[in-house]
Amino acid sequence: MILEVYSKALYSTWIYYAPERILFDAGEGVSLTMGNRIYAIKYIFLTHGHVDHISGLWTIINSRNNSMGDREKPLIVYYPKGNTAVEEWLQFILKVNGDLRFELSFVPITAGQKIFLRQAGSFARYVVPFKVRHTQYDQSLGYNVIEVRRRLKEEYKNLSQAQIARLSRELGQDSITESYEKKVLTISGDTYGIDPEDAFETEILLHECTFLKKEDRKMNAHASLDEVLSIAREAKVKKLILYHISSRYSGKIEKYLKNLSEESFEVYYVDPNELFTM
Ligand SMILES: [Zn+2]
Ligand SMILES: [Zn+2]
Repeated sequence: MILEVYSKALYSTWIYYAPERILFDAGEGVSLTMGNRIYAIKYIFLTHGHVDHISGLWTIINSRNNSMGDREKPLIVYYPKGNTAVEEWLQFILKVNGDLRFELSFVPITAGQKIFLRQAGSFARYVVPFKVRHTQYDQSLGYNVIEVRRRLKEEYKNLSQAQIARLSRELGQDSITESYEKKVLTISGDTYGIDPEDAFETEILLHECTFLKKEDRKMNAHASLDEVLSIAREAKVKKLILYHISSRYSGKIEKYLKNLSEESFEVYYVDPNELFTM
């Protein structure tokens, strides 16, 4: 898995998830940083319509339409249904790129909808949006990347490798295993703290953390560090990545992240002045 994140609250946020070539949000500068790799993007999932999350979309579409790169690849942009800022922006981009030379689709989506990415035998991977609390009048979504995997049924868990191999030969692999859903990546988008249930047992939770100090938050549109940590605990996440950090904390982020070694999950953060990769 490769994750590439740029995020500075108010300025620009985008997250590139390499296994499926998904861009979550498309803030300013994404094409500048990704260069030719913007041709590889298959899907863009927008969380909401604020300019720091959508302004880079015009450049991506325009570059893919006009430069010498591969113009054959289709691009699908998913966005929260009914988000008027996003809809206006998409219409504008279409208008100024009248002679589009690649297949571009805009697809409105709602919480709980499954967007399939890949199916291979019993394995499947899809994206499922969930509702978050950010702006009062427009829809905002967070996203889960979910995998359908198979595991040994509970009643066989205490058997030895040899016994399992024998049962598998006798009964067949399918009857001793069961399929289950696993969240592998959860992206909060801009929001007040998410419902821990939406990130339950996820491998990686990317949660916005605009405020490292609770007292700096004036309105309930963004999350603060203490709140994000308690969500990660309750959701039993494996890794927590803090992003969308306000640039007011530049150079002193570490100071706020002391004493986190006691947590049962690993904590990382996206420095507002650097590209983060994992
Ligand atoms: Zn933002
Ligand atoms: Zn926002």
